[in-house]
Amino acid sequence: MFKKILIANRGEVALRILRACRDLGIQTVAVHSTADAEAMHVRLADESVCIGPAPAAKSYLNAQEILSAATITGADAVHPGFGFLSENANFAQMVEEHGFRFIGPSPQHIAMMGDKITAKKTAVSLGLPIVPGSEEGVRDVETAHSIAQSIGYPVLIKASGGGGGRGMQVVPDMSLLEENYHAARTEAQMAFGNPEVYIEKYLDFPRHIEVQIIADSSGNVITLGERDCSLQRRHQKIWEEAPSPAIDETTRAALCDQVRTAIQKLGYQGLGTLEFLYQDDQFYFIEMNTRLQVEHPITEMVTGIDLVCAQIRVAAGEALSFTQDSIRLRGHAIECRINAESPLDFLPSPGTITIYHAPGGPGIRVDSALYPGAIISPHYDSLAAKLIVYGHTRAECLARLDRALSEYVIDGIQTLIPFHRALVRHPKIIAGTYHVKFLEQHADDLRHKEMGF
Ligand code: ADP
Repeated sequence: MFKKILIANRGEVALRILRACRDLGIQTVAVHSTADAEAMHVRLADESVCIGPAPAAKSYLNAQEILSAATITGADAVHPGFGFLSENANFAQMVEEHGFRFIGPSPQHIAMMGDKITAKKTAVSLGLPIVPGSEEGVRDVETAHSIAQSIGYPVLIKASGGGGGRGMQVVPDMSLLEENYHAARTEAQMAFGNPEVYIEKYLDFPRHIEVQIIADSSGNVITLGERDCSLQRRHQKIWEEAPSPAIDETTRAALCDQVRTAIQKLGYQGLGTLEFLYQDDQFYFIEMNTRLQVEHPITEMVTGIDLVCAQIRVAAGEALSFTQDSIRLRGHAIECRINAESPLDFLPSPGTITIYHAPGGPGIRVDSALYPGAIISPHYDSLAAKLIVYGHTRAECLARLDRALSEYVIDGIQTLIPFHRALVRHPKIIAGTYHVKFLEQHADDLRHKEMGF
């Protein structure tokens, strides 16, 4: 087992990893920008190293500085968390070449899944169903026209190097194809440094359902059920639940079996998530995330497995200590992302936390790095805290979530707490009958009727 892990991240995920390390008796090294000198992950780590100024490109994305920090502190592994360098195959390679263990899959698997076209091709070769669309990058507008014509409008133009809900253009009909095709390529180039785009059928009312897997170096692959992440704004998740209210046990078992077979064929190691869209009883693979995910705690709540500890153990070469047959999904869990954003228009709301009171009681878990005086910097992602709630049934989970949201006080910045309070009482959320466009369609009534704005 590792003796010392460098955590190449910040905020609540850095703290989450630090806690797993403590539980495993592993020493921790925090890295931080000058803006985060007082941050919780820095205060709680055994050692810390400043790796640069506030902009992420000069600190949390600065591979050289991170590797120097690992060298001078004598760390033996690097945990990338999520975001930043977590899906950067070159970084994973550099970490290994410098003699540290990268806590994640092989650079080859990261690269394969990081390019969405390669990922879709790989999925097909592994026997997974994909959304109908182009098999390669679409190089010119004529090709775009003929593909869109053959799959039928509306279509979605997606960036091959995309992520984080960015780099997608919906094309409702032929008249807008040319304009959107060029806009998508320009956006892809600017956001991801790669103009390549591809075309997919745009599904009308899918749910986003993803399967969590973990695999060790002895070839054991285990699926840990699914998460439903259909509640999204701008294609970004803000509420996730496990299990999905939309599928039954037979459907779940069939999906998980298919995923397990695919991952065994792939020879993948580590934690991973396969994301699918689900509509009219059909699943369509859209991408695989080769890292820990923001919403991992809901899987931990319903399986009782500490995913970060399991991830670290597997990276250290240990075999998984549980079997597929021993996995039992119990109860229901929901995670609300408490973003530092205006609940009205989702615009970022940086600032200093003045009052902080986290909820508690049965079934409540809060993953956050907040405290009174903590600074929400405009330089980083707006995710400030995660409220994770467990109930024996979905109804109990919703009731506890309502209670927890009413107790939660964060002053000094705006957060999505009022938005989640409106959501938890909405009839369609209570019924579990929502899909990925629900927030777009109901944003106004949530704001006006429920939140009183
Ligand atoms: P990213 O990597 O940027 O998160 P994904 O491919 O995972 O992008 O898609 C994010 C979200 O965008 C999905 O959960 C879904 O809401 C929407 N989406 C993606 N592909 C489609 C599609 N073909 N039809 C309808 N919605 C889609």
